[in-house]
Amino acid sequence: MRMVLLGPPGAGKGTQGKRLAEKYGIPWIATGDILREAVSKETELGAKAKAYMDRGELVPDSLVEGIVESRLEEDDCKDGFILDGFPRNLKQSRSLDDYLEARGEKLDAVLNIPVGDDVLVQRISGRLVCPKCGRNYHAATNPPDRDGFCECGGKLYSRDDDNPETVRARLEVYSSETAPLIDYYREKKILHEVDGSGSPEEVFERICGIIDSLPTEGAGG
Ligand code: AMP
Repeated sequence: MRMVLLGPPGAGKGTQGKRLAEKYGIPWIATGDILREAVSKETELGAKAKAYMDRGELVPDSLVEGIVESRLEEDDCKDGFILDGFPRNLKQSRSLDDYLEARGEKLDAVLNIPVGDDVLVQRISGRLVCPKCGRNYHAATNPPDRDGFCECGGKLYSRDDDNPETVRARLEVYSSETAPLIDYYREKKILHEVDGSGSPEEVFERICGIIDSLPTEGAGG
């Protein structure tokens, strides 16, 4: 099962990606998380990516494509993967298609999770992220059991780019660069629309319903 999660920032891609990975036993690969880790570890990649991320812009394609391709070559991706935050524009989606085709593979499904702007802004303001396991919380609607800490023990933090100004920029980048991928994948007949409203559990149920109805043998679990 090779899958892409599409949707604006705050749609719940990370929350759903993590759960799907646990249920279907395939890795969840979030390019934003990989880049944030590089920034916090002050690697060369992190130094190159930071300014773009702080402005809410896309990091150059060549950097991100390289990260994704080397991640997909790891052993745990041989039975599938869940991409979250990649591809983010048409150039990246074409390069992913070419890369998979060269390996005799293709995407099985792209799940689009549309959510209204007011809900996105509410979800993003107050979002708390675990740097260790990637789990998301919300200060008001989904607080951690232990104040300031993830259930895995990681110390929760607010993302630098979750401030109102950068969120606005990220939503604009989403509309102009990422939203066109919806039509791209619809034409390839692998797009599935998921209603992103309601609780994370409700959205997860909807997604699993779609995945389990796909005609592939890797979908059970
Ligand atoms: P995310 O965690 O997916 O919201 O990503 C956070 C930030 O990382 C984005 O605003 C971009 O600056 C950068 N980023 C993540 N994925 C990509 C990608 N596929 N292409 C370019 N930039 C990305």
